[in-house]
Amino acid sequence: MKKITLANGQTVEVECLSCAITSGVVEPEGGVVVETEHFHAHQDVAYPVKGLVILASKRHIKSFDELTEEEALDYIHILRKIRKAQRDLFQIEHVYYFYNEDTTHHFHTWMVPRYEWMYEFGRSVESVRPVLLHAREHMNDSTHVNEVRKAIKELHDYLNK
Ligand SMILES: [Zn+2]
Repeated sequence: MKKITLANGQTVEVECLSCAITSGVVEPEGGVVVETEHFHAHQDVAYPVKGLVILASKRHIKSFDELTEEEALDYIHILRKIRKAQRDLFQIEHVYYFYNEDTTHHFHTWMVPRYEWMYEFGRSVESVRPVLLHAREHMNDSTHVNEVRKAIKELHDYLNK
């Protein structure tokens, strides 16, 4: 078991945070963006970036090659829908996708929108971590967090209509 401190300061003990979130044991701050049969999308508001989405499988797997055909189709369909929602709702032109297999959680893809302010941290993969840390450490004020919560609701309504 691992002890995990949530964004709201609450501590939970879970085997796998992704399992806890996708099964509903842990409610993500800001709520669920969209759910399909095999996937679950939410935002971690500890990183207050508008339109950032984390897409996790419901099954506890680590790697792309463990997806069944059905899961693979479900994944690409919902990934594409979320991407279109980011574009239509927030005019997001570019998204960085980040996914690693040696995670302590399970299969999940970060969809990180690019905004102008991020380019001071460089381009491409080396800028992802500093961008996320900057968001977590310097944008955790009520203005940004409220903007992010509103965006989560807009994404939810768009993707569930
Ligand atoms: Zn898991």
